[in-house]
Amino acid sequence: MSATTRSTWEPSSGGKIGGRHLERSAVVYVRQSTMQQVERHQESTRVQYGLVDRAIQLGWPPQRVQVIDDDLGVSGASAEGRPGFQRLVAEVGLDHVGIVLGVEMSRLARSCRDWYQLLEVCAVFGTLIGDLDGVYDPAVYNDRLLLGLKGTMSEAELHVIKQRMLQGKLAKARRGELGMSLPMGYLKEPSGEISKDPDEQARSTIEFVFELFERHGTINAVLRQLVDRGISMPNRVRTGPSKGQLEWSRPNRMTLSNLLHNPIYAGAYAYGRRQVDARRKKPGRRSTGRVVAKPFEWEVLLRDRLPAYISWEQYERNMRRMEANRASMLGVVRNGPSLLSGLVICGRCGLRMAATYQNNGKELRYSCDRMSIDYGEPRCQSLKGEPLDRLVGSLVLDALQPAALELSLKVAEDVEGERRRSHEQWRLRLERARYETDRAFRQYDAVEPENRLVVRGLERRWEEKLAAEETLKQEYARFCSTEPPTLSAADREAIRQLAADVPALWHAPTTTPADRQEIIRQMVERVIVTVKGETEVADVQIHWAGGHRTKAELLRPVARLDQLSYYPELMERVRQLHAEGCRATAIAERLNDEGWRPPKRRDTFNSAMTGELLSRLGLRVNHRRAARENVKLPRGSWFLADLARHLGMPDITLYNWLTKGLVTGRRLSDRPGSPWIIEADKAELKRLRELRQAPRRRPHFKPRDEKVLAH
Ligand SMILES: [Zn+2]
Repeated sequence: MSATTRSTWEPSSGGKIGGRHLERSAVVYVRQSTMQQVERHQESTRVQYGLVDRAIQLGWPPQRVQVIDDDLGVSGASAEGRPGFQRLVAEVGLDHVGIVLGVEMSRLARSCRDWYQLLEVCAVFGTLIGDLDGVYDPAVYNDRLLLGLKGTMSEAELHVIKQRMLQGKLAKARRGELGMSLPMGYLKEPSGEISKDPDEQARSTIEFVFELFERHGTINAVLRQLVDRGISMPNRVRTGPSKGQLEWSRPNRMTLSNLLHNPIYAGAYAYGRRQVDARRKKPGRRSTGRVVAKPFEWEVLLRDRLPAYISWEQYERNMRRMEANRASMLGVVRNGPSLLSGLVICGRCGLRMAATYQNNGKELRYSCDRMSIDYGEPRCQSLKGEPLDRLVGSLVLDALQPAALELSLKVAEDVEGERRRSHEQWRLRLERARYETDRAFRQYDAVEPENRLVVRGLERRWEEKLAAEETLKQEYARFCSTEPPTLSAADREAIRQLAADVPALWHAPTTTPADRQEIIRQMVERVIVTVKGETEVADVQIHWAGGHRTKAELLRPVARLDQLSYYPELMERVRQLHAEGCRATAIAERLNDEGWRPPKRRDTFNSAMTGELLSRLGLRVNHRRAARENVKLPRGSWFLADLARHLGMPDITLYNWLTKGLVTGRRLSDRPGSPWIIEADKAELKRLRELRQAPRRRPHFKPRDEKVLAH
């Protein structure tokens, strides 16, 4: 690349270093790209730190040589996730840096984009760049050309190395020899051969998972079956002293999904199942952008290479089934996206609540069921989405009321007052540093030159004070650059204008749900919801952007009367009214007059509901229940309610199946309202149980919400 040998420590600075450079800092940028390199190539790291001496040799006072080594162990391929490199660029941009030193400077930014950005900033601020070969001025055409070339070469070099490594890896994979991490149920023999786990229980657990999937067809159902039976998954410890030992862990959704998707269980060797799609890569995150490719897109697929648990046909069938399940779960959203999706946090366990859609995408629900989906645990809490969306929406509009905004502006003023005080503090510190430098200079200046020893001491002191003052100035500049700008009069006016604009925008017919979502996201950080027991009352806590909190109470619709927080009082009132001689219809009227509210979406009580309450109190005979109790059905015949209880499902769901023709039944008699009878022998019961387990279009519906009041 250059004729100069790398070992030389005497590269020419070519007279490029001037006073303007020396009065700013010298920055030594130290980087090793992987943690292994940090450990193995300590020599190289030492050479990089040696650049501090180089800076001093070039004329920088030691106090003004700064080392940036935040990026040890981070790859140079992009500036993302390398705070040190970003800090370097920022420091240059703040005009604090006279020279940047590094070993083979162009390597510190292996992507040309980052490299040119650094060159550009250095050229603008008159900052030099130095490596073991010499000192360059990016503002000078020839130097810049050379630096650019170095960057390009270095990127090309990285590309070639990567390609070579990839080709080698691929060639090995094509031969089926590339080592892979073995999933549970497999073991590598000392001879290198891959075999099924010698532990019989481990093998049979894997087999059982495939059996369960064959029978039930969803990962969810398999997970539930395993949890219900208390079955654990066999893991071989990968590292550490107990490496190779069998450990049992509780099953979770991810493990099962990986197991069912892995072609190794069908005896195939595959490579390149996961590929990176750059379009899916999210900025600021490292390993996203991975997508699972379809089998025909895999780089390598060698069948019948390994001992198999299932056939290739079964593997393909499983993949098709999971694909179909996924498609059926993605219901169509009818009323637009939820207002708060991604913002609602469960107050009970602190997990994010998912926005789910039921009733063919018409009804929104927020539910906390991460633990249920992943580990088959009981569901935590859930509530209807629409009332919560409405509550938060109205609170947001309230916050934009003129009076509320004035209050916020007042708070902002106080913050500004505080900020002014801290600037004042800075000013005093700077003044003091200035004063001390001046004093040190005056002392130095006052001494006769003959008194050399004293002069030297005072000169050193003066330089120290000067350096301290310079450091303080730079810290102050950094402080100023990190704090948000103060509000100008125009800003305030713009904020006041919001009070008029946002509500208008909110209600405008052209505003889409996505727009409203955007408005909420600007103002609300998160919403914490805690449902009180199973009642209709939920505590809502809104965390606003900027740190304020608002508490509110939400009344959510509940399905059953006994979920109401005032259920005991309601029952007492019904008993009183009955004692006063009221019948069901009259009781319903009285309750409505007194402002009692029934559960769910209904606004008023009707006679059927009060009739149910009376029979719960034992004050009225339920004819249908009485009819059931008096009739003895033959074996294999069930009353609908009894069968539902036997299957552990809500009556209404079984009734829905009846109306959809999924089960057949007849009425006990011709009388309207007479109970339904369903024939179900052993085989039919098995079929119904499976039907119950099958995936539903409404994935997160709570069964207990479906219970009906009257039979
Ligand atoms: Zn929860």
